[in-house]
Amino acid sequence: MGPIKLIVIAILLYLGYRLLISDWRKKQNKKADNSARDIKDDGTVEDVLVEDPICHKLVPRQQAIRLKSIETDKIIYFCSEECCNLFVNQEGEKE
Ligand SMILES: [Zn+2]
Repeated sequence: MGPIKLIVIAILLYLGYRLLISDWRKKQNKKADNSARDIKDDGTVEDVLVEDPICHKLVPRQQAIRLKSIETDKIIYFCSEECCNLFVNQEGEKE
């Protein structure tokens, strides 16, 4: 016991360090590739569900039709262009 144990610990520390570095690099690459997507810490892409205010369907945000509301300055998501048009018509009737 003694020197051998120290060498083993040194090797383990080195391997751990290498693992951390390669893992960190992978994450950096993924971030660059999918900058427009929502990425969890473990690297999986999570589709955020958004609610259509017209038919109340839940749609993955990436596939949703987007409309920027002039009133609230927020982006509203729709399942289809039909719902988007309905919403625009409804907004027009209010005024
Ligand atoms: Zn809809």
